Amino acid sequence: MTRPVRARIELQAVTHNLSVARQAAPQSRIMAVIKANAYGHGVIPVTRALMKADAFAVASLEEAMQLREAGISHDIVLLEGIFEAEELELAITHQLQLVVHCEEQISWLEGFKSGASVHLWLKVNTGMNRLGFSPQTALAMWQRLQRLRYVKTNGLRWLSHLACADEPDNPANSTQLACFTELTHFSETLQGSAAERSLANSAALLTRPDMHFEWVRPGIMLYGASPMAPDHALEAELQPVMTLETRLIAVHQRRKGETIGYGQDWVCPEDMPVGVAAIGYGDGYPRHARSGTPMLVNGSTVTLAGRVSMDMICVDLRNQPEAKAGDVVTLWGAGMPVEKVAQYAGTISYELLCGVTSRVPRFYQST
Ligand SMILES: *Cc1c(COP(=O)(O)O)cnc(C)c1O
Repeated sequence: MTRPVRARIELQAVTHNLSVARQAAPQSRIMAVIKANAYGHGVIPVTRALMKADAFAVASLEEAMQLREAGISHDIVLLEGIFEAEELELAITHQLQLVVHCEEQISWLEGFKSGASVHLWLKVNTGMNRLGFSPQTALAMWQRLQRLRYVKTNGLRWLSHLACADEPDNPANSTQLACFTELTHFSETLQGSAAERSLANSAALLTRPDMHFEWVRPGIMLYGASPMAPDHALEAELQPVMTLETRLIAVHQRRKGETIGYGQDWVCPEDMPVGVAAIGYGDGYPRHARSGTPMLVNGSTVTLAGRVSMDMICVDLRNQPEAKAGDVVTLWGAGMPVEKVAQYAGTISYELLCGVTSRVPRFYQST
């Protein structure tokens, strides 16, 4: 028998989650964020399930080229633009849209001659303080980009990113919105026509209609995980896309006082069954998951006992005493939200999904 760990990817859930985004932001176009191998789900099959998106967003030229090579002709946005001048030729040949966040990128663009035309997204820093021009310098940069001959008519757009969208009541959201609105209004007055704008990630898409503008940029919600901080409930009916599962490969009766695994730091509180499941941090199951992290065995919740090893974990089976070797263990996905596991591991769903390693086979289904 082969090692039983696998990630089942439900492609219909991707399509469903896209329609949730569509309903929540009916006036906007959707730039589906599929960077990092579609958050670990496998970019080509996921993209094919997202054909109704208006554009795709990725983190690099390499990620974009993978899509073009698969014959995907949608608009594709490079969220950090190009990393060196040499990338420009290929980016423009393949009709990629570039985020422009720094002066160096502008000078690369100014030094480039092209017969083709391009869309550019000028990134402004409204409070995230990661990438982008300050609101004070952004207009001057906008004017420099306008002078480029090969920018499409109305091909220059505004983009910014939110720091606290996962906490809808955080006042930083409104501060960023006010800054973005003021700047883009001012530029509209200056040039006499409105440019398209994009601000919202998944969290803002679902909770802040006032932030939708012409383009929304959902990522995590397409994969069925809540974009909200743990204390914030979410109304939307998202469906989980990835179910990570394996099987028990052994079940042992342990005595009260026996210890489990590395460091011997989990002690059996009573005589009890302990299972061994074939998954570990070598597969992307987080080593920081603490004892007590929930998972499903035969549909019942059981918990992690002791430290996560590279290829195995141990499972407290007191809640499922009939469990035996061969039974299915669901680490996250259908019936066990990845957000919940992330909390036990001191991380976020994004990191868990992206972190499933290449040795875990992905099985695609659309039921
Ligand atoms: C990753 C990313 C997104 C998507 O964010 P989610 O929280 O996954 O919806 C949107 N915009 C930018 C610039 C990003 O880098």
